[in-house]
Amino acid sequence: MAVFVLLGAALLGCGGGGDLPAAGPATAAPSPAEPTAAPGPKKPGPAAFPTLAPGAGGRTPVYERRTGRSGEKVVALTFDADMTADQGPRAARGERFDNPELIATLRRLEVDATVFMTGRWAEEYPDQARAIGTDPRFEIANHSYSHYAFAEPCYGLPTVAAPDMAADVKRAFDSFRNAGAVNVVPYFRFPGGCYDDTALHALAPARVTAVQWDVVGGDAFAKDPDAVAEQVLSGVRPGSVVVLHCTRSAAPATERALRRVVPELRARGYRFVKVSELMRAG
Ligand SMILES: [Zn+2]
Repeated sequence: MAVFVLLGAALLGCGGGGDLPAAGPATAAPSPAEPTAAPGPKKPGPAAFPTLAPGAGGRTPVYERRTGRSGEKVVALTFDADMTADQGPRAARGERFDNPELIATLRRLEVDATVFMTGRWAEEYPDQARAIGTDPRFEIANHSYSHYAFAEPCYGLPTVAAPDMAADVKRAFDSFRNAGAVNVVPYFRFPGGCYDDTALHALAPARVTAVQWDVVGGDAFAKDPDAVAEQVLSGVRPGSVVVLHCTRSAAPATERALRRVVPELRARGYRFVKVSELMRAG
């Protein structure tokens, strides 16, 4: 079920441009050939991030909701860890783009979840990226290196040129690896949800599947956790992908909203799954 609908997106931390920081530590070795769908033992080591076969026609597939044949009541909560290249100085001044309380609440409530992380975030918070990316409850998916747009216009974000798009995604994967994350999955979320045909073709070499969402949590800059909770609860259907954020300064109500969302959805019979499980339901 590929859905090519451009959705409005709640944007966080979408500052202007700025020079990209110097590249992170060099990887220890050149990346091995990308694994294919061929069966065989998994490659050991942190470089063995999974990738997918390119989409049909050299085009990146896109999903926003996925229902299995069973119609099981599953829902994927996803949390975007946005960070742009120019937000480093703000982080240095104390602004928190992380949200450890949110991650702790997910653990306490035993909720599986997917974090769509920017590479820049993993560089700013490597310990947290490693903790998230080594906890079997979570998986890290790719939200670009620095939250630049892959199509324009896109909420005023600077744009990644098409020839650089696949490398931008790879750079984010490199950041996760450098942080020590291992639970990394080949799913990608376009910053701002903005994409077009050019981007889908340009990204094909990255061998990712784009995952949007069908439920907007509306947590960006929200002050009222109940309003966020009600928006999520009113939107969820079997197979839904919910977009929320784990950047505390820009999504301060999310953790409290979850404390209501999780038990209510469970009472309705829903089970929380990671995006990778949702994709397998197909
Ligand atoms: Zn984002």
